[in-house]
Amino acid sequence: MPELPEVEFCRRSLLRWTAGRHVVGVDVPDPRSVRLTRKDRPSAGHPDGVAALRQVVLSAPPGELLRHGKRLLWRFGDAALLLHLGMTGKWAHRGDRYVKVRLDLDDTSAVYFCDPRLLGGVVPTTWAEGLVALADGLGPDAWNAPLPPLTGSRPVKVALMDQSLVAGIGNVQAMEALWRAHIHPATPCDALTPAQRARLPGAVREQLAFTLGLFDDAEEIVYVEEDRSQNPFPIYRREGTPCPACGTPIARMIQAGRSTYWCPGCQKA
Ligand SMILES: [Zn+2]
Repeated sequence: MPELPEVEFCRRSLLRWTAGRHVVGVDVPDPRSVRLTRKDRPSAGHPDGVAALRQVVLSAPPGELLRHGKRLLWRFGDAALLLHLGMTGKWAHRGDRYVKVRLDLDDTSAVYFCDPRLLGGVVPTTWAEGLVALADGLGPDAWNAPLPPLTGSRPVKVALMDQSLVAGIGNVQAMEALWRAHIHPATPCDALTPAQRARLPGAVREQLAFTLGLFDDAEEIVYVEEDRSQNPFPIYRREGTPCPACGTPIARMIQAGRSTYWCPGCQKA
């Protein structure tokens, strides 16, 4: 599932693929991917979605592309597209059988929104309204802003994944960051020691930088859920294998309905 680093890769890729280009054509094989507002249910669709999408992308050349957490806002003059990848969505330079939206560029290339599960989508909007929607309901971006204080009795991993507290960290980045910080994932926020609090922001940053670095020379992205043989993470989905830091077998537990992998040697309760 795309988290902040994967969405940032998407942002950089779209900018690279469309630099200096115009959109000259639009094809929408699945109109349900075009939504009226960000809060629409996935695949709710938009009665005039395709026309609205055309109007945005043909109105002006693609411009700046902003990211906040896992959301993107792509400027086209005074109009914009809000992009959300959902669980399986990605923008690519080549189409596959899951293409939902295709934007043709003036050099005969195209960019494709592919989304097998249809939980992502595009929202045609104005630049001004898009700027509001981009961060609406979200905490500060986990990459561009300092980590906010973590308080309360809920487990630290659950807090890190709360997008209204800090935007962009999902299941994989949260568990890997806590492993780097030597913090047990079930530690209540209020029980974090001063030393743990001091370590956590650096560990989150290191983890996000590590994941971003995986895509440095990549032309396309493969999500870890799509091809588990390509798992680059030290502890994610590695139950029973030795921790790369201390050799203790990695353990797994369920937190808020999601699997958490952790090292009983490095992350003592
Ligand atoms: Zn360990």
